[in-house]
Amino acid sequence: MPKTMIDERSDERSRRHFLKGCVGTAGAAVAAVAVSTTVEARDTYQRPPEALGLLYDATLCIGCKACVAACKRANDNPPEFSTSDRLWDTPLDTSGHTFNIIKMYRSGTMATKDDESNGYAFMKTSCMHCADPSCVSACPVTAMTKDPTTGIVAYDPEACVGCRYCVVACPFGIPKYQYDSPTGKIGKCELCRHRYRDGHYSACAEVCPTGATLYGRTSDLLNEARRRLALEPGSVTTYPRGKLNDGPDQSYEGLVGNYQQHVYGETEYGGTQVLKLSAVDFEKVGMPRLPPRSSAATSETIQHTLYGGLLMPFAVLGAMTYVARRNVHHEDDTPADEPVKEES
Ligand code: SF4
Ligand code: SF4
Ligand code: SF4
Repeated sequence: MPKTMIDERSDERSRRHFLKGCVGTAGAAVAAVAVSTTVEARDTYQRPPEALGLLYDATLCIGCKACVAACKRANDNPPEFSTSDRLWDTPLDTSGHTFNIIKMYRSGTMATKDDESNGYAFMKTSCMHCADPSCVSACPVTAMTKDPTTGIVAYDPEACVGCRYCVVACPFGIPKYQYDSPTGKIGKCELCRHRYRDGHYSACAEVCPTGATLYGRTSDLLNEARRRLALEPGSVTTYPRGKLNDGPDQSYEGLVGNYQQHVYGETEYGGTQVLKLSAVDFEKVGMPRLPPRSSAATSETIQHTLYGGLLMPFAVLGAMTYVARRNVHHEDDTPADEPVKEES
Protein backbone atom coordinates (compact mmCIF):
# COMPACT_ATOMS: atom_id res chain seq x y z
CA MET A 1 0.00 0.00 0.00
CA PRO A 2 1.46 3.49 -0.92
CA LYS A 3 2.55 5.57 2.09
CA THR A 4 0.40 8.57 3.08
CA MET A 5 1.78 11.96 4.25
CA ILE A 6 0.89 10.90 7.81
CA ASP A 7 2.88 7.73 7.32
CA GLU A 8 5.81 9.81 5.95
CA ARG A 9 5.67 12.17 8.97
CA SER A 10 5.50 9.23 11.31
CA ASP A 11 8.52 7.70 9.56
CA GLU A 12 10.34 11.03 9.78
CA ARG A 13 9.64 11.21 13.55
CA SER A 14 10.88 7.63 13.93
CA ARG A 15 14.05 8.50 12.05
CA ARG A 16 14.59 11.57 14.24
CA HIS A 17 14.05 9.49 17.35
CA PHE A 18 16.39 6.85 16.06
CA LEU A 19 19.10 9.42 15.27
CA LYS A 20 18.60 11.09 18.63
CA GLY A 21 18.85 7.70 20.22
CA CYS A 22 22.09 7.00 18.41
CA VAL A 23 23.51 10.35 19.48
CA GLY A 24 22.31 9.67 23.02
CA THR A 25 23.83 6.20 23.01
CA ALA A 26 27.12 7.47 21.62
CA GLY A 27 27.13 10.32 24.14
CA ALA A 28 26.49 7.95 26.99
CA ALA A 29 29.24 5.65 25.76
CA VAL A 30 31.72 8.52 25.46
CA ALA A 31 30.71 9.69 28.94
CA ALA A 32 31.24 6.17 30.26
CA VAL A 33 34.69 6.01 28.71
CA ALA A 34 35.53 9.46 30.07
CA VAL A 35 34.42 8.45 33.55
CA SER A 36 36.17 5.12 33.41
CA THR A 37 39.54 6.46 32.20
CA THR A 38 40.48 6.49 35.85
CA VAL A 39 41.11 2.71 35.40
CA GLU A 40 44.88 2.23 35.55
CA ALA A 41 46.82 1.16 32.45
CA ARG A 42 48.19 -2.32 32.88
CA ASP A 43 52.00 -2.65 32.66
CA THR A 44 53.70 -5.30 30.55
CA TYR A 45 54.38 -8.37 32.72
CA GLN A 46 58.04 -9.27 33.26
CA ARG A 47 59.69 -12.70 32.93
CA PRO A 48 59.73 -14.65 36.23
CA PRO A 49 63.23 -14.61 37.81
CA GLU A 50 63.70 -18.36 37.22
CA ALA A 51 62.30 -18.26 33.67
CA LEU A 52 63.57 -20.99 31.37
CA GLY A 53 64.26 -20.56 27.69
CA LEU A 54 66.56 -21.01 24.72
CA LEU A 55 69.35 -18.98 23.15
CA TYR A 56 69.51 -19.48 19.38
CA ASP A 57 72.72 -18.17 17.81
CA ALA A 58 72.25 -18.14 14.03
CA THR A 59 76.00 -17.70 13.45
CA LEU A 60 76.57 -21.17 14.97
CA CYS A 61 73.71 -22.87 13.12
CA ILE A 62 74.76 -25.14 10.25
CA GLY A 63 71.21 -25.86 9.08
CA CYS A 64 71.44 -29.60 9.81
CA LYS A 65 67.83 -29.63 11.12
CA ALA A 66 68.66 -32.23 13.78
CA CYS A 67 66.58 -29.99 16.08
CA VAL A 68 63.57 -30.23 13.76
CA ALA A 69 63.72 -34.04 13.77
CA ALA A 70 64.32 -34.17 17.54
CA CYS A 71 61.36 -31.87 18.14
CA LYS A 72 59.13 -34.16 16.07
CA ARG A 73 60.28 -37.21 18.05
CA ALA A 74 59.97 -35.50 21.42
CA ASN A 75 56.40 -34.42 20.70
CA ASP A 76 55.31 -37.57 18.92
CA ASN A 77 54.41 -35.58 15.83
CA PRO A 78 53.85 -37.25 12.43
CA PRO A 79 55.94 -36.40 9.36
CA GLU A 80 54.71 -33.77 6.91
CA PHE A 81 55.60 -33.97 3.24
CA SER A 82 56.33 -31.20 0.77
CA THR A 83 57.91 -33.36 -1.96
CA SER A 84 56.03 -35.69 -4.31
CA ASP A 85 58.04 -38.81 -3.34
CA ARG A 86 56.79 -38.45 0.27
CA LEU A 87 59.96 -40.15 1.52
CA TRP A 88 61.13 -37.63 4.08
CA ASP A 89 59.63 -35.38 6.71
CA THR A 90 59.91 -32.05 4.86
CA PRO A 91 57.71 -29.42 6.55
CA LEU A 92 58.04 -25.97 4.99
CA ASP A 93 56.74 -24.12 8.03
CA THR A 94 55.52 -24.70 11.56
CA SER A 95 52.11 -26.36 11.72
CA GLY A 96 49.82 -28.18 14.14
CA HIS A 97 52.30 -31.06 13.89
CA THR A 98 55.60 -29.18 13.46
CA PHE A 99 56.61 -27.02 16.41
CA ASN A 100 60.14 -26.10 15.30
CA ILE A 101 61.60 -25.27 11.92
CA ILE A 102 64.85 -23.88 10.54
CA LYS A 103 64.30 -21.35 7.78
CA MET A 104 66.92 -20.10 5.33
CA TYR A 105 67.69 -16.55 4.22
CA ARG A 106 69.19 -16.30 0.71
CA SER A 107 70.76 -13.32 -1.06
CA GLY A 108 72.60 -12.82 -4.36
CA THR A 109 75.21 -15.48 -5.09
CA MET A 110 74.72 -17.09 -1.66
CA ALA A 111 78.51 -17.40 -1.50
CA THR A 112 79.10 -16.70 2.19
CA LYS A 113 77.31 -17.75 5.33
CA ASP A 114 75.87 -14.89 7.37
CA ASP A 115 76.56 -12.37 4.60
CA GLU A 116 73.54 -10.13 4.12
CA SER A 117 74.21 -9.15 0.48
CA ASN A 118 75.68 -12.28 -1.15
CA GLY A 119 75.09 -14.96 1.35
CA TYR A 120 72.75 -17.12 3.34
CA ALA A 121 71.76 -17.53 6.96
CA PHE A 122 69.50 -19.67 9.12
CA MET A 123 66.77 -18.79 11.60
CA LYS A 124 64.88 -20.99 14.05
CA THR A 125 61.12 -20.56 14.31
CA SER A 126 59.35 -21.84 17.43
CA CYS A 127 57.43 -20.39 20.36
CA MET A 128 59.24 -17.44 21.97
CA HIS A 129 57.63 -18.02 25.41
CA CYS A 130 56.80 -14.34 25.77
CA ALA A 131 57.00 -12.69 29.19
CA ASP A 132 53.49 -11.29 28.60
CA PRO A 133 52.00 -13.63 26.00
CA SER A 134 49.07 -12.44 23.91
CA CYS A 135 48.01 -16.06 23.28
CA VAL A 136 47.35 -16.41 27.03
CA SER A 137 45.58 -13.06 27.17
CA ALA A 138 43.36 -13.89 24.17
CA CYS A 139 42.35 -17.41 25.23
CA PRO A 140 38.81 -17.25 26.69
CA VAL A 141 39.03 -20.60 28.52
CA THR A 142 42.61 -20.51 29.90
CA ALA A 143 43.72 -23.35 27.65
CA MET A 144 46.90 -21.29 27.20
CA THR A 145 48.66 -20.60 30.49
CA LYS A 146 51.99 -19.22 31.64
CA ASP A 147 53.77 -21.04 34.47
CA PRO A 148 54.51 -18.54 37.26
CA THR A 149 57.91 -20.13 38.01
CA THR A 150 59.37 -21.34 34.71
CA GLY A 151 57.40 -18.91 32.54
CA ILE A 152 56.73 -21.72 30.06
CA VAL A 153 53.62 -21.01 27.99
CA ALA A 154 51.71 -24.28 28.06
CA TYR A 155 48.67 -25.55 26.19
CA ASP A 156 45.86 -27.70 27.64
CA PRO A 157 43.99 -29.58 24.88
CA GLU A 158 41.28 -30.63 27.36
CA ALA A 159 40.33 -27.00 28.05
CA CYS A 160 40.67 -25.81 24.43
CA VAL A 161 37.41 -25.05 22.58
CA GLY A 162 39.11 -24.58 19.20
CA CYS A 163 38.26 -20.87 18.87
CA ARG A 164 41.77 -20.11 17.52
CA TYR A 165 41.96 -16.68 19.21
CA CYS A 166 45.56 -17.57 20.18
CA VAL A 167 46.41 -18.15 16.51
CA VAL A 168 45.27 -14.64 15.64
CA ALA A 169 46.80 -13.00 18.72
CA CYS A 170 50.39 -14.28 18.45
CA PRO A 171 52.69 -11.74 16.73
CA PHE A 172 55.09 -14.55 15.76
CA GLY A 173 52.46 -16.74 14.05
CA ILE A 174 53.26 -19.68 16.33
CA PRO A 175 50.11 -21.50 17.54
CA LYS A 176 48.80 -23.57 14.64
CA TYR A 177 45.50 -25.38 14.37
CA GLN A 178 45.45 -29.09 13.51
CA TYR A 179 43.02 -28.81 10.61
CA ASP A 180 43.51 -32.45 9.65
CA SER A 181 42.54 -33.76 13.08
CA PRO A 182 38.91 -34.69 13.89
CA THR A 183 39.25 -33.06 17.33
CA GLY A 184 41.13 -30.00 15.95
CA LYS A 185 43.60 -28.86 18.58
CA ILE A 186 46.43 -26.35 18.66
CA GLY A 187 50.07 -27.34 18.26
CA LYS A 188 53.00 -25.33 19.59
CA CYS A 189 56.32 -25.70 21.44
CA GLU A 190 55.97 -26.03 25.23
CA LEU A 191 59.74 -26.03 25.80
CA CYS A 192 59.57 -29.82 26.15
CA ARG A 193 58.23 -29.49 29.71
CA HIS A 194 56.98 -33.10 29.53
CA ARG A 195 60.61 -34.29 29.36
CA TYR A 196 61.82 -32.64 32.58
CA ARG A 197 60.66 -35.39 34.94
CA ASP A 198 63.03 -37.82 33.18
CA GLY A 199 65.98 -35.46 33.60
CA HIS A 200 65.79 -34.24 30.01
CA TYR A 201 65.36 -30.73 28.68
CA SER A 202 64.48 -29.18 25.31
CA ALA A 203 65.19 -31.86 22.69
CA CYS A 204 66.24 -29.25 20.13
CA ALA A 205 69.02 -28.03 22.45
CA GLU A 206 70.00 -31.56 23.54
CA VAL A 207 70.77 -32.65 19.97
CA CYS A 208 72.19 -29.45 18.49
CA PRO A 209 75.77 -30.35 17.52
CA THR A 210 77.11 -26.78 17.58
CA GLY A 211 75.30 -25.24 20.55
CA ALA A 212 73.40 -22.95 18.18
CA THR A 213 70.36 -23.84 20.28
CA LEU A 214 71.21 -23.65 23.96
CA TYR A 215 68.88 -24.33 26.89
CA GLY A 216 68.97 -22.66 30.31
CA ARG A 217 67.63 -19.95 32.60
CA THR A 218 66.75 -16.93 30.47
CA SER A 219 68.76 -14.60 32.74
CA ASP A 220 71.90 -16.79 32.20
CA LEU A 221 71.21 -17.03 28.47
CA LEU A 222 70.90 -13.25 28.26
CA ASN A 223 74.30 -12.84 29.98
CA GLU A 224 75.80 -15.36 27.56
CA ALA A 225 74.31 -13.46 24.59
CA ARG A 226 75.71 -10.15 25.87
CA ARG A 227 79.14 -11.79 26.38
CA ARG A 228 79.17 -12.86 22.73
CA LEU A 229 78.17 -9.41 21.49
CA ALA A 230 81.08 -7.85 23.42
CA LEU A 231 83.68 -10.08 21.70
CA GLU A 232 85.76 -9.10 18.67
CA PRO A 233 84.39 -10.68 15.46
CA GLY A 234 86.82 -13.37 14.26
CA SER A 235 88.40 -13.91 17.69
CA VAL A 236 88.28 -17.30 19.41
CA THR A 237 85.92 -18.04 22.28
CA THR A 238 84.33 -20.94 24.11
CA TYR A 239 80.82 -21.95 23.17
CA PRO A 240 78.73 -24.09 25.51
CA ARG A 241 76.45 -26.78 24.12
CA GLY A 242 73.23 -28.34 25.38
CA LYS A 243 72.39 -26.87 28.77
CA LEU A 244 73.99 -23.69 30.06
CA ASN A 245 75.61 -23.68 33.55
CA ASP A 246 73.84 -26.81 34.74
CA GLY A 247 74.97 -29.86 32.84
CA PRO A 248 78.00 -31.77 31.63
CA ASP A 249 80.61 -29.54 29.99
CA GLN A 250 80.27 -29.98 26.24
CA SER A 251 81.87 -26.67 25.33
CA TYR A 252 84.23 -26.15 22.41
CA GLU A 253 86.34 -23.37 20.90
CA GLY A 254 85.00 -21.45 17.94
CA LEU A 255 85.27 -18.19 16.01
CA VAL A 256 83.12 -15.23 17.01
CA GLY A 257 80.55 -14.19 14.41
CA ASN A 258 79.95 -10.71 13.07
CA TYR A 259 76.85 -10.13 15.19
CA GLN A 260 74.14 -7.54 14.84
CA GLN A 261 74.53 -5.67 18.14
CA HIS A 262 71.13 -6.71 19.40
CA VAL A 263 69.71 -9.58 21.45
CA TYR A 264 66.35 -10.29 19.87
CA GLY A 265 63.79 -10.96 22.59
CA GLU A 266 65.56 -8.96 25.29
CA THR A 267 62.97 -6.18 24.99
CA GLU A 268 60.71 -7.07 22.05
CA TYR A 269 57.09 -7.32 23.06
CA GLY A 270 57.98 -6.92 26.73
CA GLY A 271 60.72 -9.55 26.46
CA THR A 272 60.68 -13.22 25.52
CA GLN A 273 62.27 -16.27 27.13
CA VAL A 274 63.69 -17.46 23.83
CA LEU A 275 66.50 -15.13 22.75
CA LYS A 276 68.21 -14.86 19.38
CA LEU A 277 71.50 -13.65 17.93
CA SER A 278 72.12 -13.10 14.22
CA ALA A 279 74.69 -11.62 11.86
CA VAL A 280 71.94 -10.68 9.39
CA ASP A 281 69.30 -8.05 10.11
CA PHE A 282 66.55 -9.67 12.19
CA GLU A 283 63.73 -8.47 9.97
CA LYS A 284 65.45 -9.99 6.92
CA VAL A 285 65.60 -13.38 8.61
CA GLY A 286 61.91 -13.19 9.47
CA MET A 287 61.79 -11.81 13.00
CA PRO A 288 59.18 -9.04 13.23
CA ARG A 289 60.02 -5.58 14.55
CA LEU A 290 57.99 -5.25 17.75
CA PRO A 291 57.62 -2.52 20.36
CA PRO A 292 58.76 -3.05 23.97
CA ARG A 293 55.16 -3.03 25.21
CA SER A 294 53.22 -6.26 24.80
CA SER A 295 49.95 -6.11 22.89
CA ALA A 296 48.37 -8.08 25.78
CA ALA A 297 49.05 -5.11 28.08
CA THR A 298 47.62 -2.69 25.54
CA SER A 299 44.48 -4.68 24.72
CA GLU A 300 43.72 -5.50 28.37
CA THR A 301 44.13 -1.83 29.31
CA ILE A 302 41.60 -0.87 26.61
CA GLN A 303 39.19 -3.61 27.71
CA HIS A 304 39.48 -2.63 31.37
CA THR A 305 39.00 1.02 30.45
CA LEU A 306 35.84 0.31 28.44
CA TYR A 307 34.41 -2.25 30.81
CA GLY A 308 35.86 -1.01 34.13
CA GLY A 309 33.09 -1.24 36.77
CA LEU A 310 30.72 -2.33 33.97
CA LEU A 311 30.12 1.35 33.23
CA MET A 312 30.11 0.90 29.48
CA PRO A 313 27.50 -1.90 29.32
CA PHE A 314 25.27 -0.08 31.84
CA ALA A 315 25.56 3.20 29.94
CA VAL A 316 24.66 1.52 26.64
CA LEU A 317 21.79 -0.38 28.27
CA GLY A 318 20.52 2.86 29.86
CA ALA A 319 20.66 4.73 26.55
CA MET A 320 18.82 1.93 24.74
CA THR A 321 16.14 1.81 27.44
CA TYR A 322 15.70 5.58 27.14
CA VAL A 323 15.25 5.36 23.37
CA ALA A 324 12.76 2.51 23.70
CA ARG A 325 10.72 4.40 26.31
CA ARG A 326 10.69 7.55 24.13
CA ASN A 327 9.29 5.59 21.21
CA VAL A 328 6.58 3.95 23.34
CA HIS A 329 5.64 7.38 24.77
CA HIS A 330 5.17 8.80 21.30
CA GLU A 331 2.51 6.22 20.44
CA ASP A 332 0.66 6.64 23.75
CA ASP A 333 0.83 10.42 23.70
CA THR A 334 -2.58 10.84 22.00
CA PRO A 335 -4.53 13.35 24.19
CA ALA A 336 -7.36 11.71 26.16
CA ASP A 337 -10.04 14.06 24.74
CA GLU A 338 -9.03 13.53 21.11
CA PRO A 339 -11.38 10.95 19.53
CA VAL A 340 -9.66 7.86 18.21
CA LYS A 341 -10.49 7.43 14.56
CA GLU A 342 -11.86 4.07 13.74
CA GLU A 343 -11.26 2.55 10.39
CA SER A 344 -14.42 1.87 8.49
S1 SF4 B 1 70.43 -28.70 15.35
FE1 SF4 B 1 71.54 -26.81 15.79
S2 SF4 B 1 72.89 -26.53 14.03
FE2 SF4 B 1 71.37 -28.06 13.42
S3 SF4 B 1 69.74 -26.83 12.41
FE3 SF4 B 1 69.16 -27.04 14.56
S4 SF4 B 1 69.97 -25.20 15.54
FE4 SF4 B 1 71.02 -25.40 13.57
S1 SF4 C 1 55.30 -16.62 20.74
FE1 SF4 C 1 53.09 -16.59 20.41
S2 SF4 C 1 52.43 -18.63 21.10
FE2 SF4 C 1 54.48 -18.28 21.98
S3 SF4 C 1 54.08 -17.35 24.00
FE3 SF4 C 1 54.38 -15.66 22.56
S4 SF4 C 1 52.26 -15.13 21.93
FE4 SF4 C 1 52.17 -17.19 22.84
S1 SF4 D 1 61.79 -26.97 23.15
FE1 SF4 D 1 60.95 -28.96 22.52
S2 SF4 D 1 58.97 -28.44 21.58
FE2 SF4 D 1 60.16 -26.54 21.70
S3 SF4 D 1 61.20 -26.35 19.72
FE3 SF4 D 1 62.63 -27.38 21.12
S4 SF4 D 1 62.26 -29.57 20.80
FE4 SF4 D 1 60.51 -28.48 19.92
